[in-house]
Amino acid sequence: MRIILLGPPGAGKGTQADLLVKKMDIPHISTGDMFRKAVREGTPLGLEAKRYMDAGQLVPDSVTIGIVKERLSEPDCAKGFLLDGFPRTVPQADALDQTLQELVVKLNAVLNIVVDREDLLVRLTGRRVCKACGATYHITFNPSRAGDKCQLCGGDLYQRSDDTEATVGNRLDVYAMQTAPLVEYYEKKGLLVNINGNQPMEKVTGDILEALGSEQE
Ligand SMILES: [Zn+2]
Repeated sequence: MRIILLGPPGAGKGTQADLLVKKMDIPHISTGDMFRKAVREGTPLGLEAKRYMDAGQLVPDSVTIGIVKERLSEPDCAKGFLLDGFPRTVPQADALDQTLQELVVKLNAVLNIVVDREDLLVRLTGRRVCKACGATYHITFNPSRAGDKCQLCGGDLYQRSDDTEATVGNRLDVYAMQTAPLVEYYEKKGLLVNINGNQPMEKVTGDILEALGSEQE
């Protein structure tokens, strides 16, 4: 099974990816892991990527795509893979398409976890951190038993600037804007499967497996 997983921050993409790769016994290929592996192994593309990363620059598509291609050519990907964080743009999707053609394989599905913006805001802005000991809570899902104090040490809880509604809202807008063309791209190819992410995690996993169940390898 060859799958791409799409979903905004807060959609539980990481959790779903972990569950799916275990269930299907395929490698989870996230962009970050892939870069780290290439750098660690010192492949020519890995070293090139490292030069950009060390300089604090974005790794160009030509390098990223080369690394993806190397990774997908490895033996553990013969039975399939779950791609997470790549492609991010239509040119990257085109390049992936070409790579898969060269490998004589096809994508089975592009899973798009869809969550209401309001829900995402609740999930992503509810985090509170203890100033004293660093313990983390969530005002809705994991509140401190000591109210607005830390239940472990009594320290004050605060909201990190990354978690404010303005910052989170901006991240969600950027994600939506970047992903819309990609969603359209895969919809046109008949590969897009929208998954309702406004439900408990187990139900989301169930829906994904059901959607993939109709896919024959
Ligand atoms: Zn504390």
